[in-house]
Amino acid sequence: RFITLEGGEGAGKSTQARLLKNTLSKLLSGSLAADGIRVLQTREPGGAPGAEAIRGVLLGSGPWDGISECMLHFAARREHVVRTIRPALEAGIWVVCDRFVDSTMAYQVFGQGVPREVFDSLAKMTLEGLTPDLTLMLDIGPEEGLTRATARGETNRYEALDPDFHARVRAGFRAIAAAEPARCAVVDATAAPEGVAAEILRIVRARLAP
Ligand code: C5P
Repeated sequence: RFITLEGGEGAGKSTQARLLKNTLSKLLSGSLAADGIRVLQTREPGGAPGAEAIRGVLLGSGPWDGISECMLHFAARREHVVRTIRPALEAGIWVVCDRFVDSTMAYQVFGQGVPREVFDSLAKMTLEGLTPDLTLMLDIGPEEGLTRATARGETNRYEALDPDFHARVRAGFRAIAAAEPARCAVVDATAAPEGVAAEILRIVRARLAP
């Protein structure tokens, strides 16, 4: 099973990915999987050696032309899919991924104005049909999210202080969730981490019956 967590800055994706990984590992501890690992927590951009190197380039430079940035994210994602995600799924391991393709749709297409056709053709080449079984959209207002992220010194995106950009990103995630309700669930990310984790677990149990 392949679960992705998506959302804007400061939504708490990394925290929730860790909590979900730990909970799922306990829930699945009776099942058989190769080499004893049942749940893999990973992230984007990154999750494979080359992809982590591209992450350094993406976050260490810029501002990027939107299409260049989009292509770098898909190059990183291809490494991640081929070297990490597909092999894990084929071994029966559950994959919990902090950001995936919906982030590129939200940030580069909705946020930066990259044409939809560019995204679609890169996505087709990169993913070859791989789609998450469940995507949790952690929803938080851009102002609250940016306050959280900057408090932790965690946002290094060059639009960090442009609220309009982050409002477009949020609208992007919401549009994806509305268009694909069978795959996506919107989670209110303003609550305390334990409350958000409980809601996520409820959704995972209801949809994927781990
Ligand atoms: O999720 P994380 O904080 O690790 O992401 C690193 C940075 O990359 C964030 O500042 C995020 O805004 C940016 N990003 C992006 N476009 C994506 C994915 C992430 O600009 N498609």
